[in-house]
Amino acid sequence: MIIKRDFYINGAWVAPANARDYQVINPTTEEPCAIISLGDKADTDAAVAAAKAAFPAWAATPPKERARIVARILEQYEARVQEFAEAISVEMGAPIDFALSDQATCLPWHTSNFLKAFEEIEWIRPLGPQAPTSAVAMEPIGVVGLITPWNWPVNQIALKAIPAMLAGCTCVLKPSEEAPLDAMMFAEFCHDAGVPAGVFNLVNGDGVGVGSQLTTHADVAMISFTGSTRAGIAISKASAETLKRVVLELGGKGANLVFADADDKAIERSVRRMMENSGQSCNAPSRMLVERSIYEQAVEKAVAVAESIKVGPAHEHGDHIGPVVNKSQWEKIQGYIQKGIDEGARLACGGLGLPETFNRGFYVKPTIFADVKPGMTIEKEEIFGPVMAMIPFDNEEDAVRIANDTPYGLTNYVQTGDQARANRLALKLKSGMVEMNGKSRGAGSFFGGVKQSGRAREGGVWGIDEFLESKGISGYDFSAG
Ligand code: NDP
Repeated sequence: MIIKRDFYINGAWVAPANARDYQVINPTTEEPCAIISLGDKADTDAAVAAAKAAFPAWAATPPKERARIVARILEQYEARVQEFAEAISVEMGAPIDFALSDQATCLPWHTSNFLKAFEEIEWIRPLGPQAPTSAVAMEPIGVVGLITPWNWPVNQIALKAIPAMLAGCTCVLKPSEEAPLDAMMFAEFCHDAGVPAGVFNLVNGDGVGVGSQLTTHADVAMISFTGSTRAGIAISKASAETLKRVVLELGGKGANLVFADADDKAIERSVRRMMENSGQSCNAPSRMLVERSIYEQAVEKAVAVAESIKVGPAHEHGDHIGPVVNKSQWEKIQGYIQKGIDEGARLACGGLGLPETFNRGFYVKPTIFADVKPGMTIEKEEIFGPVMAMIPFDNEEDAVRIANDTPYGLTNYVQTGDQARANRLALKLKSGMVEMNGKSRGAGSFFGGVKQSGRAREGGVWGIDEFLESKGISGYDFSAG
């Protein structure tokens, strides 16, 4: 059993002000795998005070020096990557090979992209030739509160803590209490990399406790949150009292438009993408919209792919999918599957209950519903499990209408052999991102949505910009040095 009750505050591991144990449950075994503490107001206040005290010196540290220190986090990662992947695997159920190849690697991927983008930031620049004495300076916003979820835990920490520190902000991270182990290792990486005391702080806790203490704290200038739309709304309201900047990366209900001229790998690629991470991705292509002429064929293919996906323990090697994170998510997903059946969608494969041969572990059968009608619950709401809805469409216009008729707007997908159509649809789909024909986002691009998927732009130069304020200056003389 891992015992990690302390918080990382002001460059040291410190005991909680008031002990409040919390058991982290391994979703494969349903047994506790770690004990952490849930912080209270005194812990949050101590972490914010440390971040506030460290801010002036860190903000004044030359950007190149900040980049040099942040880059050293990667050396720590390299030395401990296996242990890091094991922490993710045990806490949230990602199979170990996937945790190593896809989850853990988010840290070096985002950090190296941010370090490159960081070189593009112009800390002070002339406004333009029309205003020779006007300048624009970029300055770190201050102390930032980072609230992260359990589904891609390192990904979210890297997308927030790395650019915050590069920008010159100091931060307090509250990771999800469901997946705190990788976050505590990240704090160790920061410590061993020589990040100065107070620049990065970590307090474990729950949403109602440390989460809301951060969102209402007068000394926190900004909250960056990833999680449910429900929590995003609560955080926005709580942050309004102190007029914080709020950056939200929320849920999704991605539409995947598959046309008759799509390549032969399109269905398989899409189903695998949906089921990856046991469907626990906000950008999962969870609604497959298929051109009617190939619809029945597509359902058959999708079912064959889903049935070929193995489900298994997180600690076993292989390309299977693992359990979902916890009992309440498992129950929530079961509730959606039942709703799909009750509302008359055709259960094409998978369904209720544990997969055969399992009597414990939060496993969900890869499930496909066909003949889903726009407006059904499983078409509208984010399920966050390996459950895909298939819907036929008649033409491009019909497909765009169904795709856009959702409160969400994170990632939509297009599969077609007609590049002119793909280009046209990329502009018609209402989402922060559009991914076409399986081409993943390039290095330096951002991640973020529109509508109820939030308005974050995490990654690349945009992701650093989120942590900066622009200052307009007049009467500035660039020749004076
Ligand atoms: P939540 O969005 O509720 O929680 C995410 C994080 O925010 C947790 O650390 C949580 O703490 C914290 N939090 C929750 N409410 C508040 C608040 N009012 N103030 C401050 N912090 C808060 O995710 P859940 O784990 O409850 O998952 C529920 C659903 O959310 C999923 O089924 C999925 O649909 C969606 N989700 C979306 C994610 C995404 O990537 N966009 C990621 C995770 C979930 P605590 O756990 O104590 O509530």
